[in-house]
Amino acid sequence: MEWFLFALLFYQISFLCSQSLPLLLLVSFDGFRWDYPKIHGPLTNFARLERHGVRAPSMIPTFTTSTFPNHYSLITGLYEESHGLVSDEIYDRRSNEIFRSWESNSSQWWPIKTIWSINEQRLGARSGVIGWPQKFIDVSKSEVYREGRSFKDIVDQILRWFDDSNEPINFGAIYFPEPDLTGRRNGPYSLETKQKVKECDDNLGYLLNEIDKNVKLKNNLHLIVTSDHGMEQVNATDRPMYLEQYVDMTKCKAFGTETTLNIFVNNPNDIDAIYRNLSKIPNSNTYKKDQLPDQYHYKTHPHIGDLIIILNPGYELHRLSFDDGNTVNLSRIHGNSGYDNQLESMKTIFYATGPELKENFTLSNSDSLHSVDLFVLMCLILNIGKCPSSNSSATHIQSFLIDSSKVASIIGKETEKLHDGPMGLVLYLLVLVSFVLILIMAVAWSTVAFRNASAMARAAHPDAATLAEQNQYKFTQINDLKLHPAIGDDNL
Ligand SMILES: [Zn+2]
Repeated sequence: MEWFLFALLFYQISFLCSQSLPLLLLVSFDGFRWDYPKIHGPLTNFARLERHGVRAPSMIPTFTTSTFPNHYSLITGLYEESHGLVSDEIYDRRSNEIFRSWESNSSQWWPIKTIWSINEQRLGARSGVIGWPQKFIDVSKSEVYREGRSFKDIVDQILRWFDDSNEPINFGAIYFPEPDLTGRRNGPYSLETKQKVKECDDNLGYLLNEIDKNVKLKNNLHLIVTSDHGMEQVNATDRPMYLEQYVDMTKCKAFGTETTLNIFVNNPNDIDAIYRNLSKIPNSNTYKKDQLPDQYHYKTHPHIGDLIIILNPGYELHRLSFDDGNTVNLSRIHGNSGYDNQLESMKTIFYATGPELKENFTLSNSDSLHSVDLFVLMCLILNIGKCPSSNSSATHIQSFLIDSSKVASIIGKETEKLHDGPMGLVLYLLVLVSFVLILIMAVAWSTVAFRNASAMARAAHPDAATLAEQNQYKFTQINDLKLHPAIGDDNL
């Protein structure tokens, strides 16, 4: 009985806490280039978001501007050299294992705590994730990516989780693979991409309308709409470049994408010779690991090769070994990412709305928002007092907030743990007060119930002082009757 009461109390406290937590939904439209609203607009619903919230003219992704690394950076606040997911294809020299985003299934590649796990460390807090490009998502509610799933279906599911009457989530993250797929097939300036961008705008409109229909979400939900990288046009060619034309592949291994490759040299004595050969690849830059420009934040992790080849925008370097010896067909204009993250074509979008955020506010063009900065913003919105250290900066984030003093304590302290905010203290006090109130109510209810039961018993049996006395009275009667020789058990 006591265990049941404790479980009930815990459930009630947890429920109360869940009701007081801030709400945040993170939405990623893959490969949504920062200037698509200008190139393919007008986009009615992105403009609607802009009017009701905050926006950055563009956002700089992490290098290598690939899908899996950037989605991991968004939710950890870390550069790729810090979280180790340095490409969509990775080699770990220490274990001789290979990660390929489209097939790998080992937890070793995802060692960092994400915003949704950190959120769940608080009483009553729950996260829900649908389709995010990440394996091993350990949260209360999650669904893996399903090819062809409609945005409407994803939205309906995540909003059901927010609105769950028993176990609501307070943080959600959803992923949609467009307009990336279409942009890669047809290029960022194509009519097909234009149409897909407009479909994304319609999808966003559906999400905003569904939020507006729900009073709780309309008044309390924060919404961040962003992406992982932009899209560069690759022009058609009948002469694709191959890595094997420049290096003896028995002396090294190559991992990465057609736009950025990590080269692991088998014998350190060969590094200089291979470097000289790779430097001859047209329309590219090859760097030794320690000479890569600092702005890439791509030097320190062991998953980064001895040499790194970065293609100039619009060019690709292919691997015959990767394509089973087959040459590639590049006869059509198409799109790609994975280039220098400072390029205009690689920049992406950032929009956000919610009760903590200003309305109709756009960051100055000269201020560069970085995708890792969203981590601090999410910590602040969710009132997470102890977010882990990250590369996230609050410098630009503070201008998005109505109350910018919330970030005053963490500016310049990005490498330290964030402090407990005032809302965190309020939440703890709320939990404590709730617990005491429920305990008092439980004791009071028990006392009143017992007194009522006693009073009813007295009313029903005025000659009996207590229920025990009442039972004793009956027993005495029966025994007394049985003592009478004329009355047997059948008469009782
Ligand atoms: Zn992507």
